[in-house]
Amino acid sequence: PQFSLCSVAQLIETSVALISPRITEKQLAVQQDLDSGLPAVCVDSDQIGQVLVNLLTNACDAAPRSSQLTIIANTECHVDGRRFVIIRVCNQGTEIPEAIRDRVFEPYFTTKPSGTGLGLAICETITRLNDGQLQLESSSAAETVFLLRIPHKQ
Ligand code: ADP
Ligand code: MG
Repeated sequence: PQFSLCSVAQLIETSVALISPRITEKQLAVQQDLDSGLPAVCVDSDQIGQVLVNLLTNACDAAPRSSQLTIIANTECHVDGRRFVIIRVCNQGTEIPEAIRDRVFEPYFTTKPSGTGLGLAICETITRLNDGQLQLESSSAAETVFLLRIPHKQ
């Protein structure tokens, strides 16, 4: 990765702009809830932008028409001394069944008729290369949340 200092708000803004046709098509409302005073992060902005685009694309696919997508960014201090910013991508609807929650990060695992199943597998790898972490935080009939941690600047 080409690490550089990036603004979290900028990363989110750029990614949302890239998927805006999908958002418009499904008439989704995008709500952003970013902590004020978020620190800069040290990542490859193209790569982490790609991760956000993938998460948002999956969220658009799963979201019911005219529902809400929410992007939340918070500062987190880790106990082991490593510090991360947390970004949550949340969509309404379409629970991921318990039985397949462990599989969504597997390469070629997809439930979509024309899906590649590579999105989350690649996101996971890219995030790790950027010293971050990606996980499915929760999924219910009401809401699915993916959680991305990316490192603060050192
Ligand atoms: P693809 O999008 O090509 O299917 P991904 O790796 O991006 O591949 O996702 C794998 C699978 O994980 C999807 O097919 C879907 O079943 C599930 N999934 C991912 N994101 C969501 C989400 N936000 N809501 C519901 N299911 C999801
Ligand atoms: Mg996908």
